[in-house]
Amino acid sequence: MSDIRETLAAVRERILTACQKAGRRPGEVRLIAVTKRVDAERVRAAAALGVSDFGENYLQEARSKIEAIESGLTWHMIGHVQSNKAKHIPRLFSYVHSVDRWELLEDLDRDAKEISILFEVNLSGEPQKHGATTDTLRSMLEKTQALRHIKPVGLMTVPPFGADPEKARPYFRRLRELLQDVNREFAMGMPELSMGMSADFEVAIEEGATMVRVGTAIFGERV
Ligand SMILES: *Cc1c(COP(=O)(O)O)cnc(C)c1O
Repeated sequence: MSDIRETLAAVRERILTACQKAGRRPGEVRLIAVTKRVDAERVRAAAALGVSDFGENYLQEARSKIEAIESGLTWHMIGHVQSNKAKHIPRLFSYVHSVDRWELLEDLDRDAKEISILFEVNLSGEPQKHGATTDTLRSMLEKTQALRHIKPVGLMTVPPFGADPEKARPYFRRLRELLQDVNREFAMGMPELSMGMSADFEVAIEEGATMVRVGTAIFGERV
């Protein structure tokens, strides 16, 4: 537990410093601790240290953890959701960050529980990467009003993998500009930008991130 105490403190310090540098209030940035391949015991340890938001990539793995851990935590699905698994999502998660197609929204909407969603946008055009094109994003936004249980709250992106966080900055900036554009075009007020991981969350905060998804920097390398 002590190792998480130190790494978590370091991450919070880095978030604080990035906010100061960007002239933002620390309360504007929510830390989502990413717990893929992290066991329930260490999730509890992070929760005991005040972390309230947790991100998971895989439904199977998430389900056993979420059911094992006492309630009161907010769970975010940040990984690709297969259509045949969508029906399990609303019961377990408050947020889905990885909405990249209309069919998934329809599947999520079938559950009577309201769920907050972010649209994942693939800004790099990398074919192996999930995420909607900006055209697909707009066509989804045109139709979301018809859904009853879906609350669109923002956009998410994963920039191309690389060692230099500065290389990610243009993608973060474009996501912020895209959020402004679509909020205006569709008369919406979506507030959230989910961007930034262990290697680059400071840059993401400088570019306007409201949610950072941090795994390795808190829990160590995944095995
Ligand atoms: C694993 C993962 C993260 C966390 O990555 P780290 O580099 O370990 O901080 C964030 N976002 C998504 C979508 C992920 O799959």
